[in-house]
Amino acid sequence: MDHFTYVDGRLRCEGVLVEAIAEAAGTPCYVYSRATLEDHYRRLAEAFAPLDPLICYSIKSCSNLAVCRVLAECGAGMDLVSGGELHRARLAGVDPAECVYAGAGKSDAEIRQALEASVGWLNVESEAEFENIASIAAAMSLPCRGALRVNPDVDPRTHRYTTTGKKETKFGVDLERAKAFFDTYGADEHCALRGIHVHLGSPIYSPEPYVQALEKIVRLIDELEAAGHPVEMLDIGGGFGADYETGQTPPAVDYARRIVPVLEDRVRKGLAVIIEPGRTITANAGVLLLRVLYVKRSGTRTFVICDGGMNTLLRPSHYQAFHFIWPCRVDPAHVPAARLRHMPGDYLETVDVVGPICESGDFLAEDRALPPVSRGDLLAVFSTGAYGMVMASRYNSMPLPAEIMVSGDQCTVVRRREGYDDLTAHELAPEPLTTVDHTVDQP
Ligand SMILES: *Cc1c(COP(=O)(O)O)cnc(C)c1O
Repeated sequence: MDHFTYVDGRLRCEGVLVEAIAEAAGTPCYVYSRATLEDHYRRLAEAFAPLDPLICYSIKSCSNLAVCRVLAECGAGMDLVSGGELHRARLAGVDPAECVYAGAGKSDAEIRQALEASVGWLNVESEAEFENIASIAAAMSLPCRGALRVNPDVDPRTHRYTTTGKKETKFGVDLERAKAFFDTYGADEHCALRGIHVHLGSPIYSPEPYVQALEKIVRLIDELEAAGHPVEMLDIGGGFGADYETGQTPPAVDYARRIVPVLEDRVRKGLAVIIEPGRTITANAGVLLLRVLYVKRSGTRTFVICDGGMNTLLRPSHYQAFHFIWPCRVDPAHVPAARLRHMPGDYLETVDVVGPICESGDFLAEDRALPPVSRGDLLAVFSTGAYGMVMASRYNSMPLPAEIMVSGDQCTVVRRREGYDDLTAHELAPEPLTTVDHTVDQP
């Protein structure tokens, strides 16, 4: 699952004691394991090798440049959802031609940037967006390739905030509309509509929704080709699970064993396949380190108050997401044999793990059985490499945490901890409003 292991009761990331990292870098702090990133990438690449896919890493899951660089060195392209992500992909050394650009709300400036960079595919989410992309491409004389995002109306059985492939979402168009879409726009010479994109939502803990969706998509491709619309590329999206609990997700080979047969024949006939994994690569590759500030008993509840909460890790309060939490130093008898929601052990105490933010919704875990902890102890919040730091905020004027990359026994600060000056840097010199620059820096 990952390279975070207890040795003699003390948590290590690869060859490094996490207590030493917290001592040097301070807390809160995210720690990433390079070997874990590489392992997960490699397993996915090997499992799906029969489809020879382009693996476009979903930057939004963990956008730190050092993480992007590790994956770029593994051979990944990138899945982008903004101009800012295109900027990161290029800084990480990724060829924009190996990138796909999705998102239901691309601005004109972002579309121009994508065209200038010759991004491989623009995933198109609506008729209005297609017309806008095509007209910008015509005006700039920069032709591009488009992939229509289709909702196969499959329920991925995940949280409603992360379900995207059902009929009633803001993403893509439904199957019935797809054919008409190609009839209307399939001959456009500025945006060549030659691909299909599906992304069902995430995390999806079974191959079944992919199989159901892709069987529908293959039938759609047959129909489109029969109507004279060649389909060169199918992007099957991301959403593959991560082990938030030990053994929660099938390994990459299990997804591939079911998905490959649905597409193999098409691939032999020339269809290119793209996959867009995010969390399945990054989630288990990161932990968040927090220091316990106070242990407070109120009525029947015990609160473990830490120096980071919803500001550093939003997933528990935003999605009711589960993250395993455990002290970084425990009696060797209390080393967790697995990371589970309901841990066995009569030495455990039921607590709420919360942050310092002035919100009752500021929690990382409720009713959680933990070994006894006290002020000054270091806690690890596991499987936080994905949608952790990228969703962190400065709410309550809390500077953003540091990010550390570990490789073997080497540690590198890949994002320095913010200070108070970072909080106010954009506010110190108010300026008159003269020109309004709607565009951001060109990547
Ligand atoms: C978020 C997203 C992904 C990645 O999702 P994961 O659960 O991190 O794998 C892939 N494709 C699209 C279009 C997305 O929006």
